[in-house]
Amino acid sequence: MKAKELLYQGKAKSAYLTDDPDRLVLTFRDDTSAFDGEIIEQLDEKGAINNQFNAFIMQAIENEGIATHFESRLSATESLVKRLDMIPVECVVRNRAAGSLVRRLGVEEGRPFDPPLFELFLKNDALHDPMISEHHVEAFGWATRDEIAQMHAASLQVNTILSRMFADAGLILVDFKLEFGRFHGHIVLGDEFSPDGCRLWDAKTGEKKDKDRFRQKLGGVMDAYREVAARLGIVFDA
Ligand code: ADP
Ligand code: UDP
Repeated sequence: MKAKELLYQGKAKSAYLTDDPDRLVLTFRDDTSAFDGEIIEQLDEKGAINNQFNAFIMQAIENEGIATHFESRLSATESLVKRLDMIPVECVVRNRAAGSLVRRLGVEEGRPFDPPLFELFLKNDALHDPMISEHHVEAFGWATRDEIAQMHAASLQVNTILSRMFADAGLILVDFKLEFGRFHGHIVLGDEFSPDGCRLWDAKTGEKKDKDRFRQKLGGVMDAYREVAARLGIVFDA
């Protein structure tokens, strides 16, 4: 399937129409943004690494019976996906306190949550992705109560699958963000799962192996992404 007209250019990925109205080509770029797009930099090879990382994770999730948009990887930086009617809500699962939760509630970074926390944010850079509740999602018509329940259940299932996978690789899955959409009326996981949208800490040393290295200017961002991928057994194309 060939990419045709550009449909949407996001901060890190571009979506192209194809001959099939139900399919898009997603291109993962090297652009890396933080703080709702205030900072944008190029990180060498990030597009290729995140595309292949995402393909591996989406396939693992799909194998466990969760519907995802992922169809196939087309090249180092491109994947074919189902075209979804995206729900403008970010679903965040937290196993430990970090990031905005620490700032919002003043808890200590690393505090564990059992059961995990589930939070919703409106996807809106101009408003800095404000936190919302499921009542806002329903009242504003972004998703129905049943769709919210499906996104909640799927997010927790993804957490169970990936927490185990990362634990086996010596990593703690601290938190992550998912985006869902509708495909012919069904809720399907879209967007991406990569170290850009999750927090991963080394289980022994606590060292950060995710986009916080970029946000906090710790350096070695792509080396950390490559290391995580290698620990999962992902082999990259050139
Ligand atoms: P952002 O929108 O945050 O700048 P990206 O650069 O990752 O982020 O852009 C990707 C865009 O494509 C996002 O708006 C995302 O919601 C959307 N998207 C992801 N997967 C799909 C899909 N399967 N169908 C339609 N849109 C998608
Ligand atoms: N996240 C994301 N995109 C966003 C906001 C958050 O991928 O627009 C991810 C982030 O990488 C982390 C989790 O969601 O893994 C929780 O993020 P948090 O609310 O702590 O916000 P942050 O401080 O990272 O902006």
